[in-house]
Amino acid sequence: MPTKDTKKTDAKGASKKPASRKLATFNKNRDYFLRAAKIFPGAIYGHQSPALTVPGSFPYYATHGKGCHYWDVDGNEFIDYMCAYGPMVTGYGNPVVEKAAAAELAKGNCYNHPTPFMLELGEFLVDLIPFADWCVFAKNGSDVCTWATLVAREATGRKKIVMARGAYHGIHPWCTPGHGGLIEEDRAHMLYFNWNDLTGLRALFDQYPGQIAGVILTPFHHPAFGDSQMPAPGFWAAVQKLCNDSGTVLILDDVRAGFRLDLRGSQEYFGFQPDISCYCKAIANGYPLSAAAGKDSLKTAAANVFLTGSYWNSAAPMAASLANIKYMQQIDGVSIMMRMGQMLMDGLVERGKAFGYEMITSGPYSIPFIRFGKETNFMRQQVFAAEVTKRGSFFHPHHNWFISTAHTEADINQSLDSAEEAFAIVKKQFGD
Ligand code: PMP
Repeated sequence: MPTKDTKKTDAKGASKKPASRKLATFNKNRDYFLRAAKIFPGAIYGHQSPALTVPGSFPYYATHGKGCHYWDVDGNEFIDYMCAYGPMVTGYGNPVVEKAAAAELAKGNCYNHPTPFMLELGEFLVDLIPFADWCVFAKNGSDVCTWATLVAREATGRKKIVMARGAYHGIHPWCTPGHGGLIEEDRAHMLYFNWNDLTGLRALFDQYPGQIAGVILTPFHHPAFGDSQMPAPGFWAAVQKLCNDSGTVLILDDVRAGFRLDLRGSQEYFGFQPDISCYCKAIANGYPLSAAAGKDSLKTAAANVFLTGSYWNSAAPMAASLANIKYMQQIDGVSIMMRMGQMLMDGLVERGKAFGYEMITSGPYSIPFIRFGKETNFMRQQVFAAEVTKRGSFFHPHHNWFISTAHTEADINQSLDSAEEAFAIVKKQFGD
């Protein structure tokens, strides 16, 4: 259970002068990175590449974590606002989750067959997610997002898939934000519209009548290097109607937001009904697992789209997932994350104001995004995030952040104190 140290919080909240924290140094991190560069293409590839943060100001290699804190190879401790880019949701080393996973690991974990945990977790999810009649499991968000588009094609006999421009659905050729290795044909049947632009979406349905197999969308739009955009009033109802009226499969990519807005799925938070939804990240508190859940009408198509993998039946991640979601239900995890996220965002806005900065926040508080109001090139943001990170709170410079149920008011206050020092540095360096 997260503990709330309110006494310390009040005392800290009242203090005007934050105590300076020892600045992190990253020498071992750099040495590890140089070693990695010799044997791994890109050294640390993907979204965790140092090229995507501020080289020299962020940790590259972690050693261990506890609650919402983790440590790097230089021994620096961080309050984590990225939560492993989403998977950590109930705290690193959460004893409830670890106990459930450890029991299965000790017994064997991965067999020729699924274990009863697959049934138990499957029944639990189908019960939990109101529109779901069935579910499947895989390992990554990309696996289930791609698979869901194939189910849409199988069910409809159509080719086209619609997605929002700038949305992220994984690393497969139809949607990867990378360019390497792609051929034109990979995206020959992809169609795009701008988030919240119903006119643009309707135009695609008019232009390709009877040809759109599926529309895949995240519950809200969360591009990197930009504000998160919530659905405009009526957006989801209109998308659902367009899909229903044209026999198109509506796929909700809940990989990032799932279990942080509503434990039953983000469609409940926004009030609509997809045909399939995809989960990963927060589903098992860091154990490798993803899932897709769908309506009965798609069950035969789902059975016809081949789905398997080396580890896809492993017991430990399923046991971890069951324990993790039940634990969140027990503590009302979503409201804890919302409250902590709001405290952080409100605090940053307020402390920024004292330096003359208007900070712009967007997205739900449990998955918040913040930037400098006058920012045009993220330079201030990079310096700010780097200075806070050096002071022991991991702030990403251009990606949405993640809050966990393990964050406490004391953690938030400590991070706000570090942010105040960072605001002073930004002010000195950039002025307004
Ligand atoms: N969809 C969304 C919305 C995501 O945020 C991600 C991962 N960042 C994915 C799909 C892909 O998931 P994975 O990295 O597990 O393949």
